[in-house]
Parts: sequence; structure tokens; C-alpha cells
Amino acid sequence: MTRSSPSTSAELHELGVHALQHALRTKQVSAVEVATHLLARGRAHASLGTYVDMREDVTLAQARASDERIARGQAGLLEGIPVAHKDIFVTRDFASTAGSRMLKGYRSPFDATVVARLAQAGMVTLGKLNCDEFAMGSSNENTAICALGHDAVVPVRNPWNTARIPGGSSGGSAAAVAALLTPAATGTDTGGSIRQPASFCGVTGIKPTYGRASRYGMVAFASSLDQAGPMARSAQDCALLLSALCGPDLDRDSTSLDIPAEDFSRSLDDSLQGLRIGIPAEFFGEGLAADVRTAIDAALQQYQQLGATLVPISLPRTELSIPVYYIIAPAEASSNLSRFDGVKFGYRADKYTDLSDMYKKTRAQGFGEEVKRRIMIGTYVLSHGYYDAYYLQAQKIRRMIADDFQRAFEQCDLIAGPVAPTVAWKIGEKSDDPVANYLADIFTLPASLAGLPGMSLPVGFSTSEQDRGMPIGMQLIGNYLQEARLLNAAHRFQQATAHHLAKPAGY
Ligand code: GLN
Repeated sequence: MTRSSPSTSAELHELGVHALQHALRTKQVSAVEVATHLLARGRAHASLGTYVDMREDVTLAQARASDERIARGQAGLLEGIPVAHKDIFVTRDFASTAGSRMLKGYRSPFDATVVARLAQAGMVTLGKLNCDEFAMGSSNENTAICALGHDAVVPVRNPWNTARIPGGSSGGSAAAVAALLTPAATGTDTGGSIRQPASFCGVTGIKPTYGRASRYGMVAFASSLDQAGPMARSAQDCALLLSALCGPDLDRDSTSLDIPAEDFSRSLDDSLQGLRIGIPAEFFGEGLAADVRTAIDAALQQYQQLGATLVPISLPRTELSIPVYYIIAPAEASSNLSRFDGVKFGYRADKYTDLSDMYKKTRAQGFGEEVKRRIMIGTYVLSHGYYDAYYLQAQKIRRMIADDFQRAFEQCDLIAGPVAPTVAWKIGEKSDDPVANYLADIFTLPASLAGLPGMSLPVGFSTSEQDRGMPIGMQLIGNYLQEARLLNAAHRFQQATAHHLAKPAGY
């Protein structure tokens, strides 16, 4: 096993992005050494079901190129640092499946912008990570792709307790970062898929303002909500990745914001003195598990010690975000997924009689149950006679939810609350109950519907008898373009606490 230099006692997989940046720049380790170590580690922990594709030759070629750039003094911001991508981003050198049988073995002719930008910054790609099919899900049990090292489709496991889900839909990303298989991963968040798995696996993740990160090359689920972001082991590490992956991409994504890339690390150390943190009453109601509440309360006290003040606020339409999201997201999904017709991409049924039979069989066989459920709901709410009653109403309430946030931000600088009502549940526990899954999204959906930046940071572990030791995340929501402030608040908290440094036993 490769060990890091004597100047750091940590093993290579224990180094986060920031620590690796230093170790690589000062030539204490090479990019090839780091990549070799983590590729082996990914294979050794295949039982978690995180990786769906790895190509040693591609990864090592990238690492060698990084080492050459470091030697020439031409290192990029993240030169030689490994990253693994959620398999919802298309990649030229790895398969791109979006967790679906429909795209099994599919190779894209190009890289997603987020993938390309991280590569431009010098990052080395370790492989592709499991996710819920087309990013639909909260548990990563909806994947249809067989993970590396398995001969059948398996759910991704939570390294803190392998009988539990890692969360979803970026479950492979969260589990890989938590198990120290990679210092960082990409995720996407449509209704919570970066924040919720980050919370369930005890890692840090941020979804930027809608439009900050390009959607080009992200397999589309719900285009008005989908947003990419990083997951890592600290806010400082997330800031580094976010700085590299954001920025305008106007020619390729018409919803990309025309705002120059920022250095999100610039204000990490700013004082929190006088920071007003809004506490929405609706996020602390009956549905919130006692262990989650206790951990969040303790974190809020810590914030007060750091100089912040807590301001009671109201987000009165929090509950409505569930029906609104589960109308709008399926509506957009039903339209986006029409492109999978057996002609343009991926899977086509073997036997069929005519064109229409080919469409039907291809889609019946290629899509999983949850995806079909959403196509049906989406088609229904967009159909003549129901459009006004459902889709249009949902759009109106979406606007009101966004307005509620603007009113709240008149009183506070950030909003804090739980990410999810409970810690990660057991594999299989909710797999037959889609509505139970949907309800668990209640605290992440509002920021998604409003297009606001949100993040999750570890604030403790469950002490309840049945969930003991499972990680608990806290959500911070900022106003538009306030990512630097979110990361500053999370970083200062992490400077004062050690929850983010805890490691699952055996990893
Ligand atoms: N759990 C939510 C859903 O199933 C969110 C998924 C996501 O953010 N991609 O739609």
C-alpha cells in the first residue's frame, strides 16, 4: 500500500482536497501515487456498490499528465487531485449510464461542462459513481446498473452502517467520499440529491444557485431544478471544487447565469460576528426526529458562540413544496425522457413488430419502476384538462415559495434547519412506499423550487437506540449567489468542531 510521506502521518486516502493540494504542490506525493492508491482502494471496497465504472489506463494517463504539469510549474488549481463523478454526468472516457438500463454501456462523444472544468483545473478522474436512475430517488435503491465487483444490481451501502441506505440520488458520491475512496465527488441536486446523501453519510455538500453550474452534459431530470455541485469532507474542500466547476456556459446551457466564476474560498475565514441565522418554525415541527433535532440545536448553539444570532422566521408553504415538486419534477421528466425512444440513444428492445411496438417495448424494458411512475404522473399533469388544475397551480405556488424566502431574507442572512426529518433508514425499509420517500424530501425541496443555494454539513450522530451512530447533517440555505457566505459559515463551524473529521469504522 502506498503511504504518504513522513511529513504527514495520514495515509493518502485520509487527505482531503486542500491537504492533497499542498502535498502535490510541494511534491511530497505524485498524482500517480495518489491515483494508484485510490484506484486500489475503490476496488478493495467494491462491496459498498459505489463505483459503476473505472478505467485504470485513463486515470493513470491523466495522473501522469498532472505530474508533468506540476514538474513544469504549470499546475492548475486542483492539479493531480482525484475526483469521481456521479454517473449522471456524461464522460467521453467512461461509460455514462445515469443509473438506467436505458443507457447501459453508453459512451458519450463529449464531456459534461462540469467534468471538463474540473479536468481543466487538473483533477484526475477515478471513475463513475452509482446513482438513482435518472437521479430519481432518495435512497439509491433505484439504480439499474451493476456496480463494479458485483454480478447483479445491488443498492449502494452506507459506510456508517452497511445495512442502511446512503441517501440519494447522489448516494454513490456520498458513500465514496465518506468511505475515503475519493477526496471529492460531483453530485447533482434536483430536490435534495446533494444535501440529503451528504447528510446521511456525514460529508459536506453544496448545491449552488440554479444557473451557477452548467447543465450541459448532465443527463436531464427536471431542467428547471437540476443543479450540479461538489461533495467532499469539508466546506473548505467544497469551496475549491465549486470555484473550478461554476461559471457561465451560455452557448451550451441557456439557463447558465452570465456571472463570472468566483473564488469561493476567499471569505472562508471571515468572522461570523453579527451573522443572522433564520430558523424557520416549519422545519422544526412534529415530523422531525428527536435525535436530529438535538444535534441541530447543539449546532445552533455553537453558531451563537461563534457570534451569530438566531432569528425566528417562517416559511409558511414548506409543506406545499412536496406536492408542488412532485408535479413539476415529473412533468419536466416526462418531457426530458421522451428522447429515450430506442432510436437516438442506448437501449432498444430485441423483438418488436413495428415502430410503435418498438417504442413501447424499449421504454417498458429500459426504464425502471420509479422512472415510469414519474413519466405517468408527469404526462397526466401536463395533459389537456389537468394542466390548469395541477401544473399551472404548482407553478403559481412555486413562485410563492420563492417569495416566502425573499421575505425571510429581509430578516436574516442565512437559514438553518435539518436536511431530512430522520437519519438514513434501512435498505428496503421504504422501497415499496414511494410516498414515504417523497415525504422525506420536505426540507430540501423548498430551496430547490426557489433556485437557492443550499448545503449540508455534518453536525453530529444519532444517539437514539435504533439509529445510534448514524450521521446527522444540518442544512444552510443562502440567498441567490450567496455560496461564499454559506461556505464561510460552514467552514467556521468546522474549524470549531470535529464532526466532519469522524470516520466510519473499517474505512
Ligand atoms: N429525492 C428527490 C426525488 O426523488 C430528489 C432527487 C434529486 O435531487 N435528484 O426526486
